[in-house]
Amino acid sequence: MKNSKAILVTPKHFEIQEASVPEPKPKEILLKVEYVGMCGSDIHGFEFGPFIPPKDPNQEIGLGHEVAGEVAKIGSEVTKFKVGDKVLIEPGVPDDICGYCRTGRYNICPGVDFMATQPNYRGALCQYMTHPEDWTYHVPEGMSTMEAALVEPAAVGMHAALLGGAQLGSHIVILGCGTIGLMVLQACLSLGVTDISVVDVIPSKLELALKLGAKEAVNGKDVDAVEYFRSEDKFGDHGVDLVFECGGSAFLAQQAVQLVARGGKIMMVGTQSKPVPIDFLKINREVTIQTSFRYCNNFPQTIEAIATGKFNVKDMVTNVYNYKDVQQAFTDAIDPEKKTDMVKGVIKVAGTPGYEE
Ligand SMILES: [Zn+2]
Repeated sequence: MKNSKAILVTPKHFEIQEASVPEPKPKEILLKVEYVGMCGSDIHGFEFGPFIPPKDPNQEIGLGHEVAGEVAKIGSEVTKFKVGDKVLIEPGVPDDICGYCRTGRYNICPGVDFMATQPNYRGALCQYMTHPEDWTYHVPEGMSTMEAALVEPAAVGMHAALLGGAQLGSHIVILGCGTIGLMVLQACLSLGVTDISVVDVIPSKLELALKLGAKEAVNGKDVDAVEYFRSEDKFGDHGVDLVFECGGSAFLAQQAVQLVARGGKIMMVGTQSKPVPIDFLKINREVTIQTSFRYCNNFPQTIEAIATGKFNVKDMVTNVYNYKDVQQAFTDAIDPEKKTDMVKGVIKVAGTPGYEE
């Protein structure tokens, strides 16, 4: 059994380094990694270094936290899994003792140990890794390990959709059709919503949104989205009950403010990296602005939605790279020419050319 890991030695530069195979603790499994999804946060980390820089300048930086594979070994007290099981993991391990954990909101636990960020910057781009049994799930019949690796970003969409109160009968506008916007779209569809409009400026993403089940796709380059949705033929003076900002853009956040109905809700799902001026006078009729962070108890529902075909992650995968080409994968992801048509990239690890057993 050989191990290696892709380490970000400097921004924009990975090195695949040999490593020892970790030994699972009593309640841990050893995971043989098969697929790792490329998250926007990984791509940002590749380009500029981690969002939250490590305290120790010598800290080893790994990337990747959307991961699935096969159980290669189990700790002495593991009961739910056996060697050979296909599994996926929840990459954040909360401390289980703080007030947030105690009240069931472990996604905002300040003591969480989340992969590829502080405190340990442990990345899933490796051949073998250990993980607690409690934060590991079986891949059900009919789901591939590639789909299983995408349960994590899908759960982000599911959590946001549920927090937003999306349900059959909701009228929804999603601003931004990157991975997260498309995940929110599908989460809303899986919850029974039928009337979902999406807005983006990239035609291939709009086409994909329609293929995945959006009722209409509006190109924000050709049409003023506020004028359009506020027109008499659409939502008129009433506005939109539920608006999702999924682009991490100040412009879209301000459009959301102009679109939302009295008493409606704006779900802020995208990461806003700069302050956004908001005209609160426009939303003083009891509008809710709700931010959403990762997911909380959403994996079982998301796994079922994907396994039963209600949530299509497979068709979001536009690029598949082999493990040895991880440098190329991330270089493509930040290439202005190539990145516009990349919705979801995944890295295939075990069994690919150059992979040593
Ligand atoms: Zn906690």
